[in-house]
Amino acid sequence: MNTISQNEASEKALTSLKAELGGLVTTEQEQLYSVSYDGLKVAGSPEALIRLEEPGHVGTVLKLANEYNIPVTCRGTGSSLTGGATPFLGGWVLDLSKLNSIQIDQTNMLARCGPGAVVGDLQEQVAKEGLFYPPDPSSKKFCTLGGNIACNAGGLRCVKYGVTRDYVLALSGYLPTGEFVRWGRATRKFATGYNLRDLWIGSEGTLGVVTEITLRLILAVESRITYLAAFENDSVALGAPLALSRMGIRPSILEYMDCWTIECLQKYVGKEIFTGVDSKPMLLIELDGPQEVLTRENELLSAWLEKNSLTFRTAEEESEAEKLWEVRRQGSSSMKKLASTKLNEDIVIPLDRQVELVTFVNALREEFSLNIGVFGHCGDGNLHVNFMYDEENKEESKRAVSALHKLMEKVVSLDGAISGEHGVGLAKTPFVRNQFNDAEWKTMLSIKKALDPKGILNPGKIFDVFKPWDQKKEKVVLSWEHND
Ligand SMILES: Cc1cc2nc3c(=O)[nH]c(=O)nc-3n(C[C@H](O)[C@H](O)[C@H](O)COP(=O)(O)OP(=O)(O)OC[C@H]3O[C@@H](n4cnc5c(N)ncnc54)[C@H](O)[C@@H]3O)c2cc1C
Repeated sequence: MNTISQNEASEKALTSLKAELGGLVTTEQEQLYSVSYDGLKVAGSPEALIRLEEPGHVGTVLKLANEYNIPVTCRGTGSSLTGGATPFLGGWVLDLSKLNSIQIDQTNMLARCGPGAVVGDLQEQVAKEGLFYPPDPSSKKFCTLGGNIACNAGGLRCVKYGVTRDYVLALSGYLPTGEFVRWGRATRKFATGYNLRDLWIGSEGTLGVVTEITLRLILAVESRITYLAAFENDSVALGAPLALSRMGIRPSILEYMDCWTIECLQKYVGKEIFTGVDSKPMLLIELDGPQEVLTRENELLSAWLEKNSLTFRTAEEESEAEKLWEVRRQGSSSMKKLASTKLNEDIVIPLDRQVELVTFVNALREEFSLNIGVFGHCGDGNLHVNFMYDEENKEESKRAVSALHKLMEKVVSLDGAISGEHGVGLAKTPFVRNQFNDAEWKTMLSIKKALDPKGILNPGKIFDVFKPWDQKKEKVVLSWEHND
């Protein structure tokens, strides 16, 4: 039997790809470099970039890739923080950002979008129709819906409105083997066969390529009130999610900042947040809804804050609210002034275990002599644990990696999850196996093998069966820097 080397196969594949798609394919080095990494900043070496202009081409690309064993990595705008969009094993990058159509169906309160539509653009357009698409990752001004679906993206408002998955009615796209499929319909219910729509959501571009998305929309919010409050200790602050739920209050935002984050903010931004209240944990809370609901919730929340906080401020006007928001935003950016690298984890734990987790992080800070701060979406137990260290300092980097491993073990022991919104990508492959028992892990692997028998779609992500991690372990763990 005649066999050809993988190099020859790659060349043949590329020739066929260019013959099929012509100018949509580029091998120009500068352009390849621009898609060789994402927010994790670990570069792969792609051999070709395909800037798709119509969905139908996806099938062509995937069929060729299967024939010649070429890895294919989908890309929205590359804001993934886990290396999810990095073409780690080379091959072809499928850029879907040009498929960015947005069609709003006012009558049915739906949106039909291309995967390249930017989330913030969709939100602006639906707002003009008096409608609302709630999922709001901090990256919404530049990230795409396709990327959000692949990662099941979250954000600040999930506590009341849920995550990306909660708004997806139907997905069209291509299986890794290149056949067209449509999962779900533009209906509010669908109980017909396996729910493969939900299997695709959060599968990080490893089980299929999304080319059209149908989303449900809700009515635009009438008004909102923002609160910033300081608390004596973490038990009271982190008790808020359950305490408020029990009182029937549904905040649209419930964000926590630990004492360390507040200290860092005051030190580096030079701002006293509340006169005479230093180094105390804080919550940023927002209520929204129709005026009558807001009035009732405001009364209840204000009474709770009077009783339980050290002090608090409220804002009903947009400009006033912005000043309170600055505290949350600058808390994160001030941490970046501490070291060359800021590693931001997005762990999620049961609501009643959050104090235990923060106490554990306080101990980690001491044990490893590291700057570590916690802030994030405590309303749904999704806390960002930030490690600051100097990447050039090998000894400090080692301590950061050890502390990170301990954190992940603790999260699993608290029955939490190592990622609540960013996904596994490359960055969390060393930890993901501990999250599952053998049967669970094998089931996931067999799904991957059934849908993608040649393993061409986004190889090396989630599963480390290709062992890419071994070669790049240190670099991957140590290069995570962003602001969330
Ligand atoms: C400053 C900053 C703040 C952030 N804040 C948040 C936050 O608050 N919440 C949050 O959840 N995330 C956040 N993120 C992470 C990131 O923005 C999200 O993961 C986002 O969903 C990625 O979208 P993207 O278009 O950039 O996708 P990419 O980074 O290009 O790709 C992400 C993954 O999706 C896959 N993919 C992309 N398009 C498709 C498609 N059409 N079909 C199949 N797979 C596809 C890729 O292969 C990859 O695995 C933040 C990132 C940054 C840089």
